[in-house]
Amino acid sequence: MTQEKWGEIRQRLLKTVGQNNYKTWIEPIAPGNVEGGIATLHVPTNFFGNYVSQNFSDLILHEINAEGIVASRLNFALDPKGAVAAEPVAAKATQKAVAKEQPARQEVTTTAPLDPRFSFDNFVVGKPNELAHAAARRVAEGGPVTFNPLFLYGGVGLGKTHLMHAIAQELKQRKPEMNVLYLSAEQFMYRFVQALRDRKMMDFKELFRSVDVLMVDDVQFIAGKDSTQEEFFHTFNALVDQHKQIIISADRAPTDIKDLEERVQSRLQCGLVVDLHPTDYELRLGILQSKLEVQQKTYPGLVVADGVLEFLAHRITANVRVLEGALTRLFAFASLVGREIDMDLTQDCLVDVLRSNERKITVEEIQRKVSEHFNIRLSDMIGPKRLRSYARPRQIAMYLCKQLTTRSLPEIGRRFGGRDHTTVMHGVRRIEELKQSDGQIAEDLELLGRALKN
Ligand code: ADP
Ligand code: MG
Repeated sequence: MTQEKWGEIRQRLLKTVGQNNYKTWIEPIAPGNVEGGIATLHVPTNFFGNYVSQNFSDLILHEINAEGIVASRLNFALDPKGAVAAEPVAAKATQKAVAKEQPARQEVTTTAPLDPRFSFDNFVVGKPNELAHAAARRVAEGGPVTFNPLFLYGGVGLGKTHLMHAIAQELKQRKPEMNVLYLSAEQFMYRFVQALRDRKMMDFKELFRSVDVLMVDDVQFIAGKDSTQEEFFHTFNALVDQHKQIIISADRAPTDIKDLEERVQSRLQCGLVVDLHPTDYELRLGILQSKLEVQQKTYPGLVVADGVLEFLAHRITANVRVLEGALTRLFAFASLVGREIDMDLTQDCLVDVLRSNERKITVEEIQRKVSEHFNIRLSDMIGPKRLRSYARPRQIAMYLCKQLTTRSLPEIGRRFGGRDHTTVMHGVRRIEELKQSDGQIAEDLELLGRALKN
């Protein structure tokens, strides 16, 4: 794609995404080639590429097509110039570490730019994330290290990176003299490999051992990568020994990360492990309300009809990023077509998002809900005990698994402590009968079914 064409496309994007988004997310993009229906765009960092891809790819593609370029997909590639520009940061930090001339003001070293929008102010706190938030706030004070590491984990898009950036930025403000290093586990590996290749392991070690706060995002990435794990382990230990704060995030708990050495797992657990739970309706609504204010600054005058936010909070449950993307898209489309954001527009504009967010109920969810409903322990419900007070809820859970998931009987059996499929079948039949004859059971099923589909 020529610079000229891209210039045209950019101008149009400016109108649809608004000045702020444009400056931050569109301007730094450089056009690449178009091949086999794929248009390549060069971006300065992976983080940047991901963000643009999640939030603006539809619009960009739309404008590219409108410019007469045939492409059905975008590919975000790292700008080779951008990658080179990242080098001096590492080099500078290393020199500092080696020279250690003056402990005066050291810059916060980051490989990925910290996103200013990922601040504590912009983080909406609700029940599912209050603990993680409180722990993040605590380490962001930069006081004496009380738990090391802080290990934050949770599913995709629940705010781990947001909290990490918030901590780094808060520390930067409160303690400008501290050397804070934030990077993804992938970047850690990349630097490690590069140091090996360039025979600069000493520099690498110096750099990582000279930080005051080390933050590594998405640590599950190094699972199965043996020498990176090994190096990470040593870095980790060296910093803990010096009472330097370490903050780690992952998409699951330390013990659930497969192919992570046991000694690394146990090291990761020795501080404070907190998880971000899946969002609930109230939190999603709160997040939407706060993002709405941001959007309205970009698109003054656009009106959102009553019920739209509630609808989104109800229907898009999986991931805050998707929720946020939906809102961005709604505003962009509404401003394009000059309409109010009402239910009709929402349905039109978000068909695909809404479809892919149709709730998929899992066996685990059913087991949890049923055990809560009957006030028994999950382990008792899945375990071998045959007492009626466990066996009946177990059968109810099996029945619901058969009804509400696509799992086969043997699969369900396996998840109920390795039971045989005939046991599951028997349980399902029993509940089918009882549903007709026992009013209490019918009511339990009704309640549970509703709670699960919500
Ligand atoms: P993760 O790293 O856990 O995959 P991110 O931190 O990248 O998730 O969050 C995804 C998006 O959702 C980001 O834009 C982030 O700002 C937003 N987000 C997540 N949780 C919250 C929250 N509690 N309040 C405000 N924004 C949130
Ligand atoms: Mg993340």
